[in-house]
Amino acid sequence: MDDGKLTIIYGTMFSGKTEELHRIKRRAESVGFTTQLFKPKIDRRFSETDSVSHSKSFVEAIPIGSLDELEKRLDRKAYLYLFDEWQFFTAEFNEFIISLVFEEQKNVAVAGLNVDYRGELFLMKNLEGKITTKSIYDLENIAHEPIHIHALCTYPVTLAQRCGKQADYCQRFLDEEKTKIAPFDAETVELGAKEKYEPRCPEHFVYYEESRLWLHK
Ligand SMILES: [Zn+2]
Repeated sequence: MDDGKLTIIYGTMFSGKTEELHRIKRRAESVGFTTQLFKPKIDRRFSETDSVSHSKSFVEAIPIGSLDELEKRLDRKAYLYLFDEWQFFTAEFNEFIISLVFEEQKNVAVAGLNVDYRGELFLMKNLEGKITTKSIYDLENIAHEPIHIHALCTYPVTLAQRCGKQADYCQRFLDEEKTKIAPFDAETVELGAKEKYEPRCPEHFVYYEESRLWLHK
């Protein structure tokens, strides 16, 4: 890996973003580089102090609640910094990463959601909790290595067969039987695992009438 490299892994839920991040970390460590993996404090789905993929790969991560905290915990001698669940960090983190890579020539790898359950851009919040216009695409646009990864659609075509086409959306359900689709105005940040979300291809994703996506269909 070259110095001053920005890698961005983005895609829908269940696409394997965290696993890819873990792979990049292991690869750097296998040749003796030191790394630091961070995750947002808000993400406590499976663990307070691990970054956990949906296939239950646990890797120790440092939970970070603010930019000040990150600056205190950052080991300036590390070779590679990794960030999981980027969409839950505040928008100010984008600027920090840009200066880390392009001014300090550090290597950074970031994994995060590009779209929410409505199929719309996952916008990051600011320190006051207000939604901004920033997203993972602000980093993806300038990344040396942008990696868009995909899930497979799990829509049941028959009782025994799932659709299996490329899924870049994730449908959110209110019930575990997945019969009730979450309303458009449901809170975006509800951390859930497989019970409430399922990856969908464009054909099987149920669009919302209010959605900007719907207007473009
Ligand atoms: Zn499908």
